[in-house]
Amino acid sequence: MIIQLKSSLTENDYSVIENNLTIHKFGFVRVNAGKKNYYVCVGKNEVDLRTFGHLKGVEDVFRVTDQYKLVSSQWRIEPTVIDLGNDVKIGNGHLSIMAGPCAIENENQVEEIVMHLVKNNIKIMRGGVFKPRSSPYAFRGMGMEGLKMFSRICKANHIKLVTEVMELNQVEEMLPYVDIFQVGARNSQNFNLLDVLGECRKPVLLKRGISGTIDELLHSAEYMYSRGNDQLMLCERGIRSFENAYRNTFDINAIALLKEKSHLPVIADPSHGVGIRKHVPTVALAAAVAGADGVIYEVHPTPELAKSDAQQTLDFTESTRLIEKLRSVVN
Ligand code: PEP
Ligand code: MN
Repeated sequence: MIIQLKSSLTENDYSVIENNLTIHKFGFVRVNAGKKNYYVCVGKNEVDLRTFGHLKGVEDVFRVTDQYKLVSSQWRIEPTVIDLGNDVKIGNGHLSIMAGPCAIENENQVEEIVMHLVKNNIKIMRGGVFKPRSSPYAFRGMGMEGLKMFSRICKANHIKLVTEVMELNQVEEMLPYVDIFQVGARNSQNFNLLDVLGECRKPVLLKRGISGTIDELLHSAEYMYSRGNDQLMLCERGIRSFENAYRNTFDINAIALLKEKSHLPVIADPSHGVGIRKHVPTVALAAAVAGADGVIYEVHPTPELAKSDAQQTLDFTESTRLIEKLRSVVN
């Protein structure tokens, strides 16, 4: 159950509501998100919503039977739209395209990709500066110095950027340079990191864990929402399965399910989802048709020379063709 509160409550109003919740054996958390205050309540007993609806200070009461509450479409019917400013919005009806290299490598690379995006009217660039790599000997990213350069070039060209944050002590330093924080698959259940991102008012693209269930993804989003961050996106990036003919199994079902279960925008990552360059466009198109609100993929001026994920990265010609196809499918 979610209790939406009016704007000005006295301490006494809060205690009356909390006493009633306790009497009815509800656990509860007070949440401030999207300029509104709520009680998110978890209980075992069926209760008549009118028990709470008439209390002073209560604006509305919603029954949410899902275990996750604030990210559930049982509570919020209208889709969440994330406004990045300068008319760049994600969610509700238009397909957002985000593209860029797996890793930021140098200034030339960023400039060339930005030019490619500008030419194709793409407003959001991806690029990792802190890279989670399976091998400690692989390129692990340019760090803060790379982020500052990435941000400067994006700003000069009116491009928003999305980049991965790997641990809590990076959040504050990265904050001024980032438009969207990406939480990678390996950190999808790093609850301490999710808590910190929940406290900051910056959009977050949350990836599904490598072997993460849809339910776990929604609960991870709930961690952030319950700390007040309502600017969240869910990202399907493929899961580990018995199949090893490709890197991961892109779960197209998840797009449909997530769109049903949550009001948050759903983004598809076909690059990590299949991990094979020539199949990335097919998976991207399938995700768009399945109802994804956005697609995020890897592109590089010379994919074969990319320092990470070369095998799944598109070149500019392939990227342009994909953008055209995506636009023809969804418009
Ligand atoms: C990435 O986006 O480059 C990345 C490392 O993704 P994931 O966390 O999905 O593996
Ligand atoms: Mn990658």
